[in-house]
Amino acid sequence: MLMSEVKTGSCLCKTVKYDISTEIKGAGNCHCSICKKVTGGAFASVVFVGEEGFTLTSGEGALSMHDISELATKFFCNLCGSPVYNKHKHFPGFVMVALGSLDEPTQVTPGMNIFCESMLPWVKGIGALKNFDQGPQG
Ligand SMILES: [Zn+2]
Ligand SMILES: [Zn+2]
Repeated sequence: MLMSEVKTGSCLCKTVKYDISTEIKGAGNCHCSICKKVTGGAFASVVFVGEEGFTLTSGEGALSMHDISELATKFFCNLCGSPVYNKHKHFPGFVMVALGSLDEPTQVTPGMNIFCESMLPWVKGIGALKNFDQGPQG
């Protein structure tokens, strides 16, 4: 697959939709304490994209923003609450798209972990947990 191929994504309720028509600059997992609060998960997986190649194709009116720190702003769907992307003052001209919002999240593989000082200790051994193909029965 070519990295320049257009990728699509959306929030959970599919009101907010976007296209990525530019090369992916990188992707990573952020383990900082803010990302834990913002996602409710153990870490945030984000995809770096130049904003010239990131286009909202639907649901602009359903997109809300919230300053999650002095530097970063979260953009999310105000109907279903799903995170869509962040902007960060240290990275002008870029958007950090929530990896899980991609319609085909296997298209992007994170290449780094950042803020590992805040990584939850069980994350490194995640493959060793009891694994089920779907939810456990009973
Ligand atoms: Zn939504
Ligand atoms: Zn973070």
